Amino acid sequence: MLNINNPIEILKLLEKSNCRECGKPTCLAFAGAVFKREKKLEDCPRLDSNIIKQVDTKTDAKKGSTQQQEEAIKELKQRIAAIDLAAAAKRLGAQYESGKLTLQCLGKNFGVDDKGNIVTEIHVNPQVTIPILNYILYGAGASPSGEWVTFRELKGGEEWYPLYSQRAEKPLKKIADTYTELFSDMLQIFNGKRIDYHYPAEISIVLQPLPKVPILICYSGPEDGLESTLTIFYDKTVEENLNIEAIYGLIAGMVAMFGKLSLRHGNG
Ligand code: SF4
Repeated sequence: MLNINNPIEILKLLEKSNCRECGKPTCLAFAGAVFKREKKLEDCPRLDSNIIKQVDTKTDAKKGSTQQQEEAIKELKQRIAAIDLAAAAKRLGAQYESGKLTLQCLGKNFGVDDKGNIVTEIHVNPQVTIPILNYILYGAGASPSGEWVTFRELKGGEEWYPLYSQRAEKPLKKIADTYTELFSDMLQIFNGKRIDYHYPAEISIVLQPLPKVPILICYSGPEDGLESTLTIFYDKTVEENLNIEAIYGLIAGMVAMFGKLSLRHGNG
């Protein structure tokens, strides 16, 4: 039986021809819709019925993604309750005091106590909470090397790129194009740092979603009929601290947070 845990696993089953016969513009969009239970696998006329039977009998995609996130967080919290938090804090560049590990996520405190309870200074969306808990549990604590690479250059990045592009870089570029305060907000609210980077970009900002996981966002606005460009770079050591799914979840969750921020400011 095929057990499905994310849209990429659904995409792998499809022929990836983007033929649109299912009513979606791409196979990736269809995979996302199946995962969110807006579509059924049967809606792809090109998918072998034997595969559909195998998946449908035992797929996690039958649960809503919110329910899946809640269950994942519950399980991670239980695992956190079983580890040595003081040792984890030392390894990860976090603080540990009175039974509580505190680390900085985008410049704000994110705390976990020894029973796995989470206390945060800001509302962190669940999609971001999962990678943070994974980082606490499994991060090696590798220090940044200063060498930046793209998402596709990371292990598994090529496979995850279609989804990552749809949920992270493209929407962030759209926000940047319409919400002029995005980068100044990133500097002020999220303790970002502006840097000079050799990559040809008008704006290069380093954010720190996790203590040893910096990201570099390079953006150039539209000019002379040319589209804007936005690329997110990662320190080469990121793979030692988070797996590709957690990196994707962290960035897609962050972009969703920025999207809400831009809407609150009435520019989205
Ligand atoms: S019908 Fe199937 S193959 Fe065609 S776009 Fe939809 S999911 Fe992809």
